[in-house]
Amino acid sequence: MISRNTGFSNLTAGYLFPEVARRRREYAAKNPQAKIISLGIGNTTEPLSPYIAKAMSDYALGLATPEGYSGYGDEQGNTALREKIAQTLYKGMADASEIFVSDGAKCDISRIQTLFGKNVKVAVQDPAYPVYVDGSVVVGAAGSAKADGSGYEGIFYLPCTPENDFFPDLSKVEKNTLLYICSPNNPTGATMTKAQLQKLVDFANENGCVIIYDAAYFAFIRDSSLPKTIFEIAGAKTCAIEVNSFSKPAGFTGVRLGWTVVPNELKFADGSSVNRDWNRVMTTLFNGASNIAQAGGLAALSEQGLSDMKASVDYYLENGRLIKQTLDGENFRSAGVVSYFTGNGPYVWAKFPNRKSWDVFDMILDKCHVVTTPGSGFGPAGESFIRFSSFGHRADVEEACARLSKLVL
Ligand SMILES: *Cc1c(COP(=O)(O)O)cnc(C)c1O
Repeated sequence: MISRNTGFSNLTAGYLFPEVARRRREYAAKNPQAKIISLGIGNTTEPLSPYIAKAMSDYALGLATPEGYSGYGDEQGNTALREKIAQTLYKGMADASEIFVSDGAKCDISRIQTLFGKNVKVAVQDPAYPVYVDGSVVVGAAGSAKADGSGYEGIFYLPCTPENDFFPDLSKVEKNTLLYICSPNNPTGATMTKAQLQKLVDFANENGCVIIYDAAYFAFIRDSSLPKTIFEIAGAKTCAIEVNSFSKPAGFTGVRLGWTVVPNELKFADGSSVNRDWNRVMTTLFNGASNIAQAGGLAALSEQGLSDMKASVDYYLENGRLIKQTLDGENFRSAGVVSYFTGNGPYVWAKFPNRKSWDVFDMILDKCHVVTTPGSGFGPAGESFIRFSSFGHRADVEEACARLSKLVL
């Protein structure tokens, strides 16, 4: 019989979110009376902007007419949308030829791994969004899990904790490493300053590293001094790929639309163009984002669409403030819980000293009927932390906060 891809046998446990869902289901089955509220998975909950939805609906109806019908489009994305992204979001910092529209950031991250193959050295922020590591394991760029549970062989973990202001110590990163960086960060919420990002870019340029910059939460940045794209930083074009998405700002988690910026200046060691290979990946392994979703993306970048996206993000940020207020309550503080919320991302990150993340997860599920996400699922340095997500209906967030405020720790 054909043998299994060793990358799969190397993967431990489940992917984090299915495991969270499994525990929730199991708890619900045993406690049918519990009204469970999720502050767990990073999924949007609020309805689409009617303006953006109408653009998709009009486009879909147009497909039923001879004039409006279109089949496959350009695999790189509609020219109009690529140009609109370049103008509206990059304002001259990236050209349309460097922007590739896709079915989402996560999908692009997994395709990026085919671009660098299994011999690349990988470093991740720890904690990190799981696909950077799990995807690396699947393509063989990382080995099996270490026995002590401290991550995978072949992945270089860069702890980002309150102790180092959530900024990685780069001094031990080897040359020619693929560096996964996410800002505003999932799960910690930490958002890099221009000075921090400049340090990172300078390091990458000096050491032959490529940064995969996940900016899926750029729209949550409210502090105007913080960079919304890595291309605001001098030198980024020779060392960075930016992955981005309409999922979180426009509520497109189900619609599916993202993009990746691969600068023309970015080169492999042999001098060949990364942009050209990415074009090859997109044209051979991908067949273009949905044309309906792209019509929605164009609408999202119009004046009305941008204003609707801002309102949606503001709603979630307010949820985040309510959660942060609750975690600042006396019951949490007296138990030594310290929480972090930057106001520039949707997550509140909280440390429960001397406790295991999954234990705290189970306790909050049991006592409050609230689902959270255990920090340890994001990497070894996430142990003892819990991630609270601000994605939720206001009434549910308020109810969850009311229950949390009565929690005896
Ligand atoms: C939600 C999320 C994504 C996923 O984006 P999609 O475009 O929906 O695939 C990517 N990166 C991070 C850090 C996220 O939290």
